[in-house]
Amino acid sequence: MTQQNTVESFEIDNGIGLHSGKIAKLRFLPAKEDTGVVFKRVDLPSSPEIKATFDHVVDTQNSTNLGFDGKMYVRTIEHLMCALYMFGIDNVLIEINNEEMPIFDGSASKFIDVFKKQKLIQQNAPRKFLKVKKEVSFTDDKGNQVSIKPKDAGLKVNFEINFPSPVVGHQLFSAEINEEIFQNELIDSRTFCEKFQVDYLKSIGLAKGGSLDNAVVLDGETILNPNGLRHEKECVNHKVLDLIGDLYTSGTQVVGEISASKTGHFHTNQLLHKLFRDKNNYEII
Ligand SMILES: [Zn+2]
Repeated sequence: MTQQNTVESFEIDNGIGLHSGKIAKLRFLPAKEDTGVVFKRVDLPSSPEIKATFDHVVDTQNSTNLGFDGKMYVRTIEHLMCALYMFGIDNVLIEINNEEMPIFDGSASKFIDVFKKQKLIQQNAPRKFLKVKKEVSFTDDKGNQVSIKPKDAGLKVNFEINFPSPVVGHQLFSAEINEEIFQNELIDSRTFCEKFQVDYLKSIGLAKGGSLDNAVVLDGETILNPNGLRHEKECVNHKVLDLIGDLYTSGTQVVGEISASKTGHFHTNQLLHKLFRDKNNYEII
């Protein structure tokens, strides 16, 4: 049986937020069994804390953002959440002194590099898993769909994307999520966008911190990043990284098989709401 883990205290250097352009520093602190992942805004009066759960997600426009009472507290948590999931960190308090997670290179690499230098502390409670018992799916009004169905053990992800850019085009990912696939395909796969999207995002006040240092930018048939892609299927790989991070807002690791077609943060969040609405859909083991 796998035990829950927490961490010893450590910090991560300052980094810029992708959408806000604001600089933030993170401090990780140990947390008790069954705490989960909790963020604390130490720059705000009374330092509000918010648990990283799907029902605290208040905005999914281009990133996963936590808040409550009409306020947004922590933005763009998904890459860090994926790193915590894959590294097996169950309980942690993360202090942040601004509104958005640093984006670093647009992937989970930086978080994993730092985690590898820390000592995990094994705790006195077994890890809990969310085991899917009934298939649940969410389809948007364009027909894009994400579904999750039962599986004996582990997490399998099937992801399909189809982008107009000929550099991306149609890409498929289908694999059991394990240490090997995470190391080889997912960790360093960066967020991506089209150049015209960057212009639009900037016009609506997003992507203020975006640059070729933290995102793959496509312009028609050209990749604007001088060193090109890190993986042939870096774009779909990154979508899987986001999906795992968003799944971790379930509060536990997941046993099931997910199939997603052209979906994003919004769809995964809707799927979790739907799954948790009926206790017959799942069990916590
Ligand atoms: Zn992402």
